[in-house]
Amino acid sequence: MNFLEEKILKDGVVCPGSILKVDNFLNQKIDISVMRKIVRELKRRFDGERVDKIVTIEASGIAIATLLGDLYDVPVVFAKKNETANSTDDKYYSQAFSFTHKSMNQVYISRPYLNKGERVLIVDDFMAEGQAAHALIDIVHQAGAEVVGIGIAIEKGQQQGGRMLREEGYHLESIAIVESMDPESQTITFRQTSPD
Ligand code: 5GP
Repeated sequence: MNFLEEKILKDGVVCPGSILKVDNFLNQKIDISVMRKIVRELKRRFDGERVDKIVTIEASGIAIATLLGDLYDVPVVFAKKNETANSTDDKYYSQAFSFTHKSMNQVYISRPYLNKGERVLIVDDFMAEGQAAHALIDIVHQAGAEVVGIGIAIEKGQQQGGRMLREEGYHLESIAIVESMDPESQTITFRQTSPD
């Protein structure tokens, strides 16, 4: 069992509706030592890849993306969900259904923040149905940039996002892959992955 799986077993709470609550180390209180390990492990798994930019989606992807951007020493860009009056830039838009909020979000990145030919690593805290990742991929492609890979802290393997993205040929790395979780017994099992 790796460090993140151990942390999930210790501090994660399984909620009804296939939601894993990790507010006490990832989503509200941020455990910096766990975060550091997550980003170091993600960087190791994409070893040898040139990365020009880290792209994520607000809000909970930002912390991981920022620490990873620091490791790579590259800029971090996050897609926003709500239009703000003070942004007059042209934007790339896409759509993502939010698994946690059960609503369709229009997400966008201002055009000047992504450039043609850049090699982009997409990161997020969770992978569920792959909606957020697909919206980010769509935006990166609209900009004429390239998706190097997708780095996720916690993938819920019982949902379809990870399988779909791997089948589409993307290099997807998840530090912990939940195979099953039960809100009644608070049991969580993980997919066995080969250590490399
Ligand atoms: P997807 O777009 O892959 O369906 O869902 C991923 C997004 O929804 C992530 O950005 C994450 O913030 C949120 N999310 C999905 N499932 C969970 C979950 O079980 N727990 C938490 N905390 N967030 C989740």
